Amino acid sequence: MSESAPRRLRQLGDVPVSQLRNVGEKRTAALASLGIENVFDLLTIYPRRYIDRTKRVDLSDLTVGEEAAVFGEVGKVSSRRTKQGKVMVEVSVRDDGGSIKVVFFNQAWRERQLPVGVQALFFAKVTEYKGQRQMTNPVVDVIVGASGEERDVTRIGRVVPIYPASGKAGLTSWEIGGFIDESLRRAGPLLDPVPPSVRDELQLVDRTQSYWGIHLPSDLDDVAPARRRLVFDEFLRLQLLLALRRRRLEESSAGIRHPLALDDLDVEPGALSSPSSSLVRRFLAGHHFALTSAQHRVLVEIARDMASPLPMHRLLQGDVGSGKTVVALTTLLAAIDGGRQGALMAPTEVLAEQHLASLRADLAGLTKSDPSVLGGERGLSIQLLTGRVKAKDRQSVLDGLRNGSVDVVVGTHALLTDDVRFKALGAIVIDEQHRFGVEQRAALRDKGRNHSDEQADPDLLVMTATPIPRTAAMVVFGDLDRSVLDEMPRGRIPIRTEWAKDAGDVERCWQRVREEVSAGRRAFVICPLVEGSERIEATSAVEERTRLALEELRGLSVGLLHGQMKGPEKEAVMAQFRAGELNVLVATVVIEVGVDVPEASVIVIEDAWRFGLAQLHQLRGRVGRASVQSYCYLLGTPPNDEGAVRLQALVDSTDGFALAEIDLDLRGEGTLLGARQRGRSDLRLASLRDDEDLLLAAQRVADSMVRRDGLTGEPDMVDELRLFVDDEEADYLFKS
Ligand code: ADP
Ligand code: MG
Repeated sequence: MSESAPRRLRQLGDVPVSQLRNVGEKRTAALASLGIENVFDLLTIYPRRYIDRTKRVDLSDLTVGEEAAVFGEVGKVSSRRTKQGKVMVEVSVRDDGGSIKVVFFNQAWRERQLPVGVQALFFAKVTEYKGQRQMTNPVVDVIVGASGEERDVTRIGRVVPIYPASGKAGLTSWEIGGFIDESLRRAGPLLDPVPPSVRDELQLVDRTQSYWGIHLPSDLDDVAPARRRLVFDEFLRLQLLLALRRRRLEESSAGIRHPLALDDLDVEPGALSSPSSSLVRRFLAGHHFALTSAQHRVLVEIARDMASPLPMHRLLQGDVGSGKTVVALTTLLAAIDGGRQGALMAPTEVLAEQHLASLRADLAGLTKSDPSVLGGERGLSIQLLTGRVKAKDRQSVLDGLRNGSVDVVVGTHALLTDDVRFKALGAIVIDEQHRFGVEQRAALRDKGRNHSDEQADPDLLVMTATPIPRTAAMVVFGDLDRSVLDEMPRGRIPIRTEWAKDAGDVERCWQRVREEVSAGRRAFVICPLVEGSERIEATSAVEERTRLALEELRGLSVGLLHGQMKGPEKEAVMAQFRAGELNVLVATVVIEVGVDVPEASVIVIEDAWRFGLAQLHQLRGRVGRASVQSYCYLLGTPPNDEGAVRLQALVDSTDGFALAEIDLDLRGEGTLLGARQRGRSDLRLASLRDDEDLLLAAQRVADSMVRRDGLTGEPDMVDELRLFVDDEEADYLFKS
């Protein structure tokens, strides 16, 4: 690594860490255990924080009772046993301003870790013991070793970066810092693939400056601009890959132009229609409600996609109860209007069955012409395909899909199996997208082409009720167009949510259930989540049902639904509840998504703190689906503040997007981004909350770069992107 041409990141990716001066076999293995194999990997470990050595905390200024981070040198170290027989290591730490005593209990190894001369950071609350200030069991970051042989102390700037040390791998912050230091110095200038015009416009420092500024700042003021540039690069790579994927899909697509007339969407219930009108028109004219303006807007967006020769690839976000179903139905009908078929895929069998029932009800009475039947006209055929469908029925559904006599198939993953073939698949709707991964989405698209005699790409609409903050959606669903249902149907009364904190509150909650039932409405009772055991969860639901039927809800008819029940059993219970034969349904979280029983007006969630915020919001969405006041009761005492924050947030807000933002804050971004693309295009520094401006800028830059020439004029950028995709994908994305 010594010639002087500016180096590309991918070249650094080709240099194994073992080429560094202080990295032998043992450290190579230790680094490998952290997933760090080459110099590029090393450079993407970023400091957790920095210590400004010119601004040492004056030890004499420390305030007792406050937490502090102290940087100092070990002056004295000793160890002894206390009267209780514990090992106690005492370290005297000093800096220019004074000294402090640091004490460790039951950590004998600290004596070896902290010999005289070591410089380290100590973080803990400052206490007072026998008139002397002291820290007990602090967090320790060793910065400079006793002999300094590992890292050239004279080279450490005024600002010392603190890396996430790994006790397990036996690597300290200063060792990692040393490797990075050597890597950067030997690498020399780094090639910058972002054009100067873009850098100027966005006021971004160049690449070399960014890596030096984050790892070897000579001043704390260097850090923020360096970070900004690195965050931009992370977003840019991600958005470039997404834009390229999109471009490739469009180039290779064989989409369908569905015959969809925009003015069919303007039809109000009761409007005139004739048997020769489109199904979309007849459906909307005969429907029992008018579209909300959000539903109308979204349908226009979908209609434009469907009418275009490029296959639709759209995400529909809409809070629980915002009315996604009618949008899905209209989409499917538009496909049938063109003489094609539709598929609706749900994440669970319960949901698929429910969709089947509601589709059949909503589409009852609609007919289509079919010369093969007597009279030339027949009703729509909507069939179910899940793992539970019996072999004989399954075969007839498969035959119907093959010969075109089935118009819509509703199912689960079972729709993805190889033997499911269509005559002409025109549109796919996936409900509750967050349960399906990115790869499954791709698989589904392929199936459309390869498993439909027409060999065309069906239009794809994925629907999610889990509101995702806009920035997160740009990252997780960056390859989809987005539509948002941001308006609830008229007449909805916001659900009243109460957190029952004491026995009186709990009594009032059950009282409410009894009142609502006697007014002819229904209630859900959700049993606590039991980590990792559906069986125990089921058992507790069984017990709770029995208890409630004997005590608080005596005299009401109380049903039971849990994940261990067989399909037909579940179906029967849901049917009874829907029909009102059961007043109360005690259920585990199996009912989380999509269950639609408009008469249900109360939901009681036991040990509510065990559920995540998004999940609680979903559960609450099971009520409030008609125009009566509905109630949600949260039971149980959270064991920690985080749980309490969640419950309070739910009490305070019924806005799924606001709750999603809070959830993002509470849980961090990792969980949300879990189902992200494979590969190394990890967002390490970027924060979706704080760096939104950079994300938007990166998306804009990426789109214009890809739109221009598919990156063929940017070989340096393409070279860099190869770091983040496997060979197969690279061939696909970067072929010219
Ligand atoms: P989602 O699937 O988005 O949670 P649904 O499609 O199940 O919501 O709709 C929720 C309830 O609102 C259903 O009972 C549905 O009939 C009703 N609904 C949907 N759209 C409208 C509308 N435009 N006007 C009145 N009621 C509507
Ligand atoms: Mg729904």
